[in-house]
Amino acid sequence: MTDRYAVIGNPIAHSKSPQIHQMFAEQTGEDIRYEAIESPPDGFAATIERLREAGYKGCNVTVPFKFNAFKIATELSERARAAEAVNTLSFAGDTILGDNTDGAGLVRDIEQNLGISLQDKKVLLMGAGGASYGVVLPLLTAGAALSIANRTPERAVELAKKFASSSVRGGGYADLTGSQFDVIINATSAGLTDSKIPLPASPLFPKGGQGGIFAQGSLAYDMMYGRETPFMAFARANGAAIVVDGLGMLIEQAAEAFYIWRGVRPETAPVIAALRA
Ligand code: NAP
Repeated sequence: MTDRYAVIGNPIAHSKSPQIHQMFAEQTGEDIRYEAIESPPDGFAATIERLREAGYKGCNVTVPFKFNAFKIATELSERARAAEAVNTLSFAGDTILGDNTDGAGLVRDIEQNLGISLQDKKVLLMGAGGASYGVVLPLLTAGAALSIANRTPERAVELAKKFASSSVRGGGYADLTGSQFDVIINATSAGLTDSKIPLPASPLFPKGGQGGIFAQGSLAYDMMYGRETPFMAFARANGAAIVVDGLGMLIEQAAEAFYIWRGVRPETAPVIAALRA
């Protein structure tokens, strides 16, 4: 019998997840069906109940329900507990297992697809919202020395404090003057409104070479995908060597969910290529 899965969000019509999981299923020969389901804002628990009663095996959860999913899970993975958010639910009897694959997806895209090791790299994570919460533990586990900067600095400080690690600190953008990073990740929603992030511009680039916030050979990573954001344009103009969007992360977090559910890791390169095309 075909196993059923879904992604739950609101809105959800734009979601690429059904297409991605369909490609994974074709590639691996797994017999699954995966659909997008819009839940009413106050009806998430009822939607999950309906899916479980109908025999669904699990679901992905996206905006604005990741915290609801965290609350509804009866068991949580370590990374979901650290993220305080869940994007992958697995149903087995009375158990609802909550996991968060966003951070693993980001790290895999950077390390495997882009070939950049995070071990001992100076990494700046911009933003202290849901997306940032999801990626701090996986970035630290990958060996990054992490600075978190946020428009509201207190939120970045609070996020950093949750991790008993000397490799993470939080603050505001004003604290970044004079600092250089190997990897800068935009986990803010500034791109949605085409807003600029107040990063210090490089005084030397391009005439005098490096010297600004982007270290030589650095990576600028925007979690948003689908279009050039002001952050990506800033990175190109201020010395970043590699500038990428978050499509790879989206596909890698989906692959990690597929692996949790099916025990098979799909190849992501052909799916990334297909969606880029
Ligand atoms: P969120 O919880 O609403 O947090 C938004 C964050 O952005 C906050 O830290 C906020 O700062 C900051 N921010 C908003 N406007 C800003 C501006 N003009 N300048 C500077 N900072 C600004 O959102 P989220 O769920 O974390 O999502 C953030 C982004 O990540 C979205 O674009 C989302 O699409 C993307 N994302 C991508 C993937 C993927 O798979 N590629 C996965 C997850 C998320 P304050 O605290 O000061 O308000």
